[in-house]
Amino acid sequence: METKFWELKKDPEAAIAEAAALIAAGEVVAFPTETVYGLGADGLNPEAVAKIFAAKGRPADNPLILHIADPEQIETLTGGLNANARALMETFWPGPLTIVIPRSEIVPDAVTAGLDTVAVRMPSHPVAAALIRAAGCPIAAPSANVSGKPSPTNAADVAEDMKGKIAGILDGGNCGIGVESTVVDTTSPVPTILRPGGITREMLEERLGAVEIDPALNGNPALRPKAPGMKYRHYAPQAPMYLYEGKQAAQRLAEAALHACKQGMRAGILCDDAVKTRLEGSLRRGHSLEILSWGEGKSDLAEHLYELLRDFDRLTPQFIIGMGVDERGLGLAVMNRLRKAAGYQILLAEDDCVTVKSGKVFPEFLMLADN
Ligand code: AMP
Ligand code: MG
Repeated sequence: METKFWELKKDPEAAIAEAAALIAAGEVVAFPTETVYGLGADGLNPEAVAKIFAAKGRPADNPLILHIADPEQIETLTGGLNANARALMETFWPGPLTIVIPRSEIVPDAVTAGLDTVAVRMPSHPVAAALIRAAGCPIAAPSANVSGKPSPTNAADVAEDMKGKIAGILDGGNCGIGVESTVVDTTSPVPTILRPGGITREMLEERLGAVEIDPALNGNPALRPKAPGMKYRHYAPQAPMYLYEGKQAAQRLAEAALHACKQGMRAGILCDDAVKTRLEGSLRRGHSLEILSWGEGKSDLAEHLYELLRDFDRLTPQFIIGMGVDERGLGLAVMNRLRKAAGYQILLAEDDCVTVKSGKVFPEFLMLADN
């Protein structure tokens, strides 16, 4: 299939109208949102929805989010909204928040994977909103990556995964937030975060009072996540990845990087600007490391994480060592993605020693303080 490519800078209205017509005709089009790029199809048309699963190679038991452009559009999709759902819609829409609510009859089983709930979001990105309005239907849209790969945050990364498989790609530049929406189940007695994202736990608690976090999100394989998609290997770069967490993570990462370099290992280093600058100050030209920095704070990390993981796939290091951040604010969402990317191979660097937080097999030099 030939994939159309629309540069939105040129004539955005014509491009969005063309893309919307394809969606209304049952085709799949990728489009930008404020979180990551979505792979959109008519959410009430089971055949169109089936094309999303085929293009992504997505397991059929992983339900999709329906995207709407106006809050009233939710009424026909649900059997009823409780006070928590309404409070979240009023406070955080449009924005990076998905609410899980009781479904209505018109939502196809393919969208909900047979569950009696449906996930709905109203994105704030102007292109996404215009596309949904022009298509005249709720748009079912997962992230526009092949299942298991990091989500795309720019149109080139979408094209890498989807060229030839879908009808078109709307290029709206880089996504601002960079990690997927927060998914909150409003049907449980206490609203529960099923996937951390751009709307933080603190923001939800301020609005709703108590909020729970799905206990399965900490990586315990014995627990089954309530969002079916969270159980899959996800966000993973091709090279094995190890993560330092804790107060001395940056220091240990820098030491491990220097050790790897001395041994001539082609190690990928995922760090912030401060560690990158420090390392480059002590390395000779032509060294063996691939050092990628996300910038300064957590929002830089969220914005660039997936792009950097995809860069590592192109650079093909032997392995990647990264460092974590604290879990406050956006930290919860980025740490969820980083830990998954590392397959939960995590070392804790605190009190001048390194201990295994989770995972089994680590290169020995990562465990030593003061390599
Ligand atoms: P993605 O489409 O890649 O952004 O992922 C959507 C996430 O929302 C996946 O983890 C899904 O499993 C989850 N999800 C979608 N619908 C529901 C639902 N009805 N109940 C619980 N989780 C859901
Ligand atoms: Mg996804």
